Amino acid sequence: MKGSFKIGSIFGIPILIHWTFLVIIPIFAWIIGNQITLTVDLLSNTFGVPIDTTYLTPGWNPYILGTFVAFGLFAGVLLHEIAHCIVAKRSGVPIHSITLLVFGGVSSMEDSTPDPAVELPMALVGPLTSLAVGLAFIILVYGVQASMAAGPLAGLLVFAFAYLGLLNVFLFAFNLIPAFPMDGGRVLRAYLAKRMPLHRATRIAADVGKGFAVIFGIVGILLFSPILILIAFFIYIGATQESAVVRYAFLLRDVTVGDIMAHPVMTVSPQTPVREIVDLMYVTKHLGFPVTDRGQIVGMVTLADLHKVPPPDREAMQVRDVMTRDVVTLPPEAPVMDALRLMSAHNIGRIPVTVDGRLVGIVTRTDILKVVELREI
Ligand SMILES: [Zn+2]
Repeated sequence: MKGSFKIGSIFGIPILIHWTFLVIIPIFAWIIGNQITLTVDLLSNTFGVPIDTTYLTPGWNPYILGTFVAFGLFAGVLLHEIAHCIVAKRSGVPIHSITLLVFGGVSSMEDSTPDPAVELPMALVGPLTSLAVGLAFIILVYGVQASMAAGPLAGLLVFAFAYLGLLNVFLFAFNLIPAFPMDGGRVLRAYLAKRMPLHRATRIAADVGKGFAVIFGIVGILLFSPILILIAFFIYIGATQESAVVRYAFLLRDVTVGDIMAHPVMTVSPQTPVREIVDLMYVTKHLGFPVTDRGQIVGMVTLADLHKVPPPDREAMQVRDVMTRDVVTLPPEAPVMDALRLMSAHNIGRIPVTVDGRLVGIVTRTDILKVVELREI
């Protein structure tokens, strides 16, 4: 996911942090710190454990405690994700990475549409881990009460453990809301997918997810909660993307690159002046051309390549000065879904089709989407 960086790895799976998670720690520390007096009453009532608040309220203490709780929350989210990954690995689902986001984590899978029999336990184990972590903290609350004399230090510990207990139980409940692609939504899809084709199950789960996203967004605006608005945004985008991928995979399941590629392909030579490329784009309405030299493909020249050079410099240049050299190509027998995946991974709109380095056609995103539209009727 864009905007993430690596902090370490576990079982060979890289753990990434999304920038939203870095923002959330100080925000949470601040919110928790600010509300400390309020939550002292709440928590002491909730668990029936009297809290000595001497150390809780003076000076910066609420914010230091808030920071501690925020990091505890971070650890809880990480455990939740690791649980997903362990079950995934056991079921043979490869996991690329774990990304910690504002509201939890995302375990990025090689194949985003696993067998429902695998997806169900995989999705459930995360929230169940959060519940277990939450209950463990609540047990600690009573452990402190039983083993320590009541006092300011015990009060501090009881408060922190109770807070973390409640947060993890909240994570359990929140993640089970059937808002695809959150865990609860995945549980819903796995449940539906046992009764109908995966693409239909995904569409229903994604529609329910979008519904929740809209509700979260409205509530977020009414409560002035930027966190809830951000969550709504992530759910909406995630549901839209995942259901599109599953729909395309279904509609294009038996289509190869060779079936829909355009040929013959208009090519240019490395020596063609860049000026002529611009004219050619105007005339043909194609925004990219393979560059060939004696029948072999040596590069691609696209509008994006032209943008890299300022107009005055283009005058004296040839295609070989601006073209992209390491070109992604596919053989005609490759599934069209591979082409779509490569296009989104490399952010390109067209892929040359080659046999032994010889250009035989070209497949574009626009052509693939036309096939999708045709197959939908
Ligand atoms: Zn989860």
